[in-house]
Amino acid sequence: MTRPSIPVIGIDLGTTFSALARIDDHGRPITLVNAEGDLLTPSAVLFDGEDVVVGKEALKAIATEADRVAECSKRDVGHRVYHKLLDGKQYPPEVIEALILNKLRIDAVKQIGPFTKVVITVPAYFDEVRRKATQDSGYMAGFEVLDIINEPTAAAVSFGFQQGYLDKEGGSPAPRNILVYDLGGGTFDVTVMQIRGTEFNALATDGDVRLGGYDWDQRLVDLAAERFTGLGHADPREDPLSAGKLWRECEDAKRTLSARRKASVVCHHRGASERIEITRQQFEEATQDLLDRTRFTAVQALRAAGLQWNDLERVLLVGGSTRMPMVRDMLRRLSGMEPDDSVAADEAVAHGAALHASLILAHQEGLPPMFKIRNVNSHSLGVVGLDPLTGRRRNGILIPRNTRLPVTGKRAFKTQKAGQRSIRIEIVEGESPSADDCTPIGRCSVRNLPPDLPAQYPIEILFHYKPNGRLKVRVTLPETDRRVDTEIVRETGLDKDRLDGWRKYIRGLSPTDQR
Ligand code: AMP
Repeated sequence: MTRPSIPVIGIDLGTTFSALARIDDHGRPITLVNAEGDLLTPSAVLFDGEDVVVGKEALKAIATEADRVAECSKRDVGHRVYHKLLDGKQYPPEVIEALILNKLRIDAVKQIGPFTKVVITVPAYFDEVRRKATQDSGYMAGFEVLDIINEPTAAAVSFGFQQGYLDKEGGSPAPRNILVYDLGGGTFDVTVMQIRGTEFNALATDGDVRLGGYDWDQRLVDLAAERFTGLGHADPREDPLSAGKLWRECEDAKRTLSARRKASVVCHHRGASERIEITRQQFEEATQDLLDRTRFTAVQALRAAGLQWNDLERVLLVGGSTRMPMVRDMLRRLSGMEPDDSVAADEAVAHGAALHASLILAHQEGLPPMFKIRNVNSHSLGVVGLDPLTGRRRNGILIPRNTRLPVTGKRAFKTQKAGQRSIRIEIVEGESPSADDCTPIGRCSVRNLPPDLPAQYPIEILFHYKPNGRLKVRVTLPETDRRVDTEIVRETGLDKDRLDGWRKYIRGLSPTDQR
């Protein structure tokens, strides 16, 4: 296989753990270890005065300095600021994500030398706002983000590679349908893919950006805390330090419960200490509704792909939380087949990202493509219009969800009065007919229309969804040959100056500050 000449890097920027993979000299993806010698880096950041510590040490600090540690910041991506103050300061979540990326970069550079071009993965269910924020994180960490790719797609590519589908003679032309069930630390994605030879086509995708192993942890925390208070003690959840310690104990117990039928957690609070035993059955009962949410979503995605369970060749398990036996049991019952855990649950996404990076770099160097990826959009895209009868703000859907990308949607507008020079358009993402229930992506204005247009003059707005789920807007005046690419003014997110400011700050952190 001919390979690009520079390091080919893919990054899985996970809610709880992140990983960086490269393509080795034999064309195979491998995960690089971090400075601590681990394949996975906890996505936790400790803000300790001038110092910023990322990874294992930051995670440990939750037990003693919870108010300085950011964890699960990926869940807040798309919001203006991280949900709590960190060492007394507010941080945008994408900056915290950038600090995690920077740690991965520094550790990798020590092993393979400098590089800037990377592919970063995002949950398939991430909307435009979150995708943009992730690209910004990459920029602030000093990367040139070649592309972003959906996590389940990356996992499927890694699976295809492992199965030999990407070898010249390996791909079978008969379509194989697979359902990728990806339950990570903080997000849940399900994607139905069709693999045809070396083509990876997403047929449908669905998910929940706030559902993952972390929610299972919280249920265990509640279970343990209620037992503890039942014994006459104060509630450990009241105090961030006791709660932080209990959470770590519970996350550990959750892993034990994947292998054994019972586990115990030690709960300390205000001088009292108890060992609390929890059985797998109690844990499963307390989290049944979370599992049901994933089941419902998987069924919906399959339906949206126009398939039945018996059309699937495999159900692929991805993400650390699929190690919980309840997940496997549920999918076995639902699909009638044994779920496939042959891809490394924690590494497959980073591996797929590195393979995608090699595809892009090879293309840039004029080399032939190894495989192809086709994606669908995970949310419908619309523009806000006023309902003339009710005066309510409606979502006029232009591109329905699960449309094959790239796609261009059009909408015709008319000027209201003669000589009108500008038009303002509000863009939303979501399925609800009411615009206020959708995610506002941003606005765009068409300015500098020619000065003498009559009233009711037609204007066409084109929304172009790129294969990576990012959006571009173009305006045309159909009766002339004018075309304008307009910038979306985003509802949230950092402007260029602030991005550059953070990039400088992050690059200025010395490697000892930024462990
Ligand atoms: P990921 O983001 O894919 O690395 O998944 C991380 C999530 O997987 C975290 O919530 C972990 O607690 C969870 N996890 C990892 N190993 C296990 C296990 N053996 N049993 C249950 N959950 C696990």
